[in-house]
Amino acid sequence: MEQIHTAVCTVCQSPRAAVFMEAPRAPVICNVLWPTRAAALAAPRADIRLAFCPHCGHIFNPDFDPAIMDYNVAYENSLHFSPRFQQYVEALAADLVQRYNLRQKDVIDIGGGKGDFLKLICDLGDNRGLSIDPSYAPGPQDGPIDPRITFVQDYYSEAYADRRADFIASRHTIEHIQNPVAFMQTLRRTIGDRSEIVLFFEAPNARFTLHDLAIWDIIYEHCSYFTAHSLGFLFTRCGFSVLDIRESFGGQFLCIEARPAQQTKPTRDAQAVDAIAHDVAVFAERHAQKVAQEAATLAEWRRDGKKVVVWGAGSKGITYLNSLNTQDQIAYVVDVNPRKHGMFITGAGQEIVPPARLREYQPDVVLVMNPIYLDEIRQMLAAIEVTAELVPAL
Ligand SMILES: [Zn+2]
Repeated sequence: MEQIHTAVCTVCQSPRAAVFMEAPRAPVICNVLWPTRAAALAAPRADIRLAFCPHCGHIFNPDFDPAIMDYNVAYENSLHFSPRFQQYVEALAADLVQRYNLRQKDVIDIGGGKGDFLKLICDLGDNRGLSIDPSYAPGPQDGPIDPRITFVQDYYSEAYADRRADFIASRHTIEHIQNPVAFMQTLRRTIGDRSEIVLFFEAPNARFTLHDLAIWDIIYEHCSYFTAHSLGFLFTRCGFSVLDIRESFGGQFLCIEARPAQQTKPTRDAQAVDAIAHDVAVFAERHAQKVAQEAATLAEWRRDGKKVVVWGAGSKGITYLNSLNTQDQIAYVVDVNPRKHGMFITGAGQEIVPPARLREYQPDVVLVMNPIYLDEIRQMLAAIEVTAELVPAL
């Protein structure tokens, strides 16, 4: 049966959004850790379809079904164990504390996970933090909780309207929300007339996924793929005035800073939307070519009897391992996050091991899922006397 190929945009409600790519049978939740290979292999799957809105430049999955998602406590997506990422968030926190004079203030982090970012903000400015995240649960390796931070295991809602706030941060959360307009409108209502509050949001940059072909970033958990244009459009539409939108982390992320405003009206930049439309038009073909090229490389390594490991058990690594036939070719995935060690990759079933395990395994090829970490991985491998070829999964 022919599927419907148009959809209503989740940011601007234009009915003219059109499906431009499909990724069948993707794992439903990437960042859940499975204690056995059998459980990992039996993890639920669903098709991903992406639609592009020619009005506001937004990209989203019109078939996203929240009923099959469950952000339970086994969810683990912290990147804070990587020195490169840690440097990035430390610089980001310092910049925000300095520019917005966050000293002895109240800071809310929506979707703040285990509170890593909030802790930085509180340390730097002696601030008080409130972290609201449905997946929050302290693990045995997480150490004592910072007394300045309160954790609430919940979704953000009107119930938190009375909480003091000078600054509201939300990083890598808005892309997981099926109805971002309803969420932002709720947030705007809870802020009311407290016009001095500043918002800082960070999300993956869809332009990077499309233009730089970061195809392993396309995961079921992301209902939305924001472009700078659609993110600004969303905020303006929902009663915020945008102070700044910029790319960060080598272009992989978008950062937006905004304040509540009385009257706002989104404006459309035709040139910006046309540029995204161009990337969208050629994406499905470029995506298929890239998957075929990666499959050919894997086949060549198999022919040559090379032992291959993947570095990075985040969503990129998980998508790569599930998009290609890797189950009987790649045995291990390396990750620096100790919370992941001994667990198994959803869908594809590889065991996640610490870098030190490679000393004994001695792979021929280390496939690096995010090239931004190449330098630190090269250093770690040298320290444990692993001479494998480092290959960025571009
Ligand atoms: Zn739209």
